[in-house]
Amino acid sequence: MKVGIVGWRGMVGSVLMQRMSAEKDFELFESVFFSTSNAGGDAPTVARGERTLKEANDLEALAGCDAIVTAQGGDYSNDVFPKLRAAGWRGYWIDAASALRMKDDAVIILDPVNLPLIQDALARGVKNYIGSNCTVGLMLMALDGLLKADVIEWISAMTYQAASGAGAPQMRELIEQMGQLYSSARDLLSDPKSPILEIDHAVSMSLLSDQLPVRSLGAPLAGSLIPWIHDDLGNGVSREEWKASAEANKILGRPALGEAGSLIVEGLCVRIGAMRCHSQALTIKLRADLPLPEIERMLADANEWVTVVANNREDSIRELSPAKVNGTMSIPIGRLRKLALGPEYISAFTVGDQLLWGAAEPLRRMLRLLLNKL
Ligand code: NAP
Repeated sequence: MKVGIVGWRGMVGSVLMQRMSAEKDFELFESVFFSTSNAGGDAPTVARGERTLKEANDLEALAGCDAIVTAQGGDYSNDVFPKLRAAGWRGYWIDAASALRMKDDAVIILDPVNLPLIQDALARGVKNYIGSNCTVGLMLMALDGLLKADVIEWISAMTYQAASGAGAPQMRELIEQMGQLYSSARDLLSDPKSPILEIDHAVSMSLLSDQLPVRSLGAPLAGSLIPWIHDDLGNGVSREEWKASAEANKILGRPALGEAGSLIVEGLCVRIGAMRCHSQALTIKLRADLPLPEIERMLADANEWVTVVANNREDSIRELSPAKVNGTMSIPIGRLRKLALGPEYISAFTVGDQLLWGAAEPLRRMLRLLLNKL
């Protein structure tokens, strides 16, 4: 099999490259790398890889691939994918962008959760496999056990989403903002006797100053938060919030929201100053009053990445933090308890690296699925 890789030097693409190298995926197929900006330049050095970068808009070169994996972005997918298909290309298109996700002829891939659905699609000759929204994927990975047992009636997901979900420039700007806030209070901080309200005032002035870099984020994030992610759909719902129910039901192979048998996922999506781990506070209505130990067992047994964290202060602070989970494949879920709302209501808090399970990992695993090497 010959695999074309587009978008390999972007943020998602770089994590994808790290994971594919770590798992020796490149030994399994020939690979050819594409670029929108440096065709003819040196390709990354991998086993069985072509040495020279090809032009990412060269349909003939792309059509020479049995599968194309792209993390180049939605504009690229919207532009190139239809032209390739119109030219008769029948290869597998594996994509990190949201552009094709909800199309009828595309499957959203999250194999620990929906492997049977992917296998069924492969058997039916489906060729388009798209990674999920990061937040939705991480939530479904964490709740895999309860979803497989079909014991959830609805989920309210309040998210704490990292800067990386917005993009690399936004991550850089977050750190710049942090630096600027620190600078504004540095002299006061160096004096242990300086009044805290003076420090707060200096930082507050800095947060509202037009000197604070907000070109990419659009608002202060360091020392603050942004309570809206992605487009305004005009009905009080953000596109990020809409994706929760829309994508979750598609991933699970259930009817669309509002139809009988669909899963209700509702909530607010909020950007916070974490680097690359999304966190989510979940309120879950179960179909029955299940004992907490049974719930914990179902969650823990569902897949090899989810871990149940004991609901105490020490374990929660140590294990359920973006700082701890950053750069790992682990999906911890904790703060599990019954709520005063009634015996069927539980709380949960989960954290996951949005560039790994939230973006890159399902793509490389899809390639392995094509080769029966998962
Ligand atoms: P990105 O970092 O902006 O990279 C996209 C492309 O930008 C690269 O492949 C590269 O193309 C070009 N580029 C221009 N300047 C660059 C620079 N200085 N460094 C690296 N690349 C540069 O995009 P991304 O955040 O990885 O997102 C890719 C797609 O994945 C998007 O559709 C996004 O919605 C989706 N996605 C993102 C996330 C996330 O958390 N960020 C999660 C899930 C899905 P050339 O090499 O051709 O120049």
